[in-house]
Amino acid sequence: MSSGIRKIETSCKHINSRDFNIELSFFSIKKDLNYIIAEIAASFANLLIYHDISRLKKCKNPDCNWFFHDETKSRTKIWCDNNCANLMKVRKFRRRKKAESNE
Ligand SMILES: [Zn+2]
Repeated sequence: MSSGIRKIETSCKHINSRDFNIELSFFSIKKDLNYIIAEIAASFANLLIYHDISRLKKCKNPDCNWFFHDETKSRTKIWCDNNCANLMKVRKFRRRKKAESNE
C-alpha cells in the first residue's frame, strides 16, 4: 500500500455504519498474530462506532491494565471484573485494619 497504512489481511469482521459513512472489512487468510491484532482493532472500531465512548474506563486496580465498557445504569463501575474488585476490597480492608491497630 502506498498510503503507509499497514494492511492486515486477516479476520472475517465486517463493520458498517451508515450514520458515519464508515465501512471496515477484514478477511481471514490465516489465524496468526495479525489475526489477533485485526480482531482487537475491529473490536475497538466497533466500540467507537456503536457504543458510548464515555463509558470506556480503565480498571482502578493499579496493578491491572485492563480497560472495560461500563454498561451499568449508574455508570459507577470501577473494576474490570470481580477478581480486581475483590482484590481491591481486601487491600482496603487490610489497610483499614492496619491503621486501626496503629492507633
Ligand atoms: Zn482490573
